[in-house]
Amino acid sequence: MDQGNSQAHDYLIINRVQLLSECGCSACGGGFSQSPTGDKALVVTVGEGGKSFIFCGGCGDNIMGRIASDDVRKHYVWDWAVPLRNGRPAAQTS
Ligand SMILES: [Zn+2]
Repeated sequence: MDQGNSQAHDYLIINRVQLLSECGCSACGGGFSQSPTGDKALVVTVGEGGKSFIFCGGCGDNIMGRIASDDVRKHYVWDWAVPLRNGRPAAQTS
C-alpha cells in the first residue's frame, strides 16, 4: 500500500530517539513538516513520568526567549521531528 502522496503519522524525535504517533506543537497546535528532513523542534520533558511536550521552531524560539534561568533551560532540548512513513524513515523509500 504505497501511496504517492505519503501520509506521515509517526514522527521520530532524533536526539531523544522517541517515536510519537501524533506530533503537533503543544503551544500552537501546528503540525510538523512531512518532508524527509523534518522540522526543528523544541522538546521539554517534565515530571516523574517523563512526559514530553513538543514545540515547533517558532513557538520554541518564543519559549526559549522567555526562559530566564539556566536551571529551567536544561529541561529544554532542540531536536528534530522527522516524519516516518510506514514505520520507516521517509528517506529510505526506494
Ligand atoms: Zn507552535
